[in-house]
Amino acid sequence: MFEICAQGWLKQARHCPSPHFNERPVDADISLLVVHNISLPPGEFGGSYIEQFFQGHLTSKAHPFFDEIRDMQVSAHCLVKRTGEVVQFVSFNQRAWHAGVSSFEGREQCNDFSIGIELEGTDDLPYTDAQYQTLVAVTHAIMSTYPNITPARVTGHEHIAPGRKTDPGSSFCWNRLKAEL
Ligand SMILES: [Zn+2]
Repeated sequence: MFEICAQGWLKQARHCPSPHFNERPVDADISLLVVHNISLPPGEFGGSYIEQFFQGHLTSKAHPFFDEIRDMQVSAHCLVKRTGEVVQFVSFNQRAWHAGVSSFEGREQCNDFSIGIELEGTDDLPYTDAQYQTLVAVTHAIMSTYPNITPARVTGHEHIAPGRKTDPGSSFCWNRLKAEL
């Protein structure tokens, strides 16, 4: 059983605080969970470039793509690595910057009212069993702490930003996740 403390941090996560967050609007109810994917460099797994990117200190010159993204101020609440390890960057009570221009059931600016979880991966490579197990455990903890997030309000970045985003992609098995929520 994963647990979330009153300050909005998962006790089981490795904490890597990001400066890329701010307060949610006063009236925001936390009522949506958004699943994403990321890999840095694209298509490569392992290492700590994602943590560095979300923490605003991706200084490596190891890949030309890093030059394109290093000044972007983005984050997610959590990252689930290929091993199933979970890393948390932003308190769930705060607004992380993961969704961008987005809309869910007619309500825009999903960052205001959502929690963003990144899976280390790509749109077309299967996610690992360990990632599904961790995602299920984290989602259960989130749903019990933020009861306005229900299984029907667990969605993908591709669904709230269609035409602009494609993650977590066809490689993500929604039936597998939803069956365990
Ligand atoms: Zn995304």
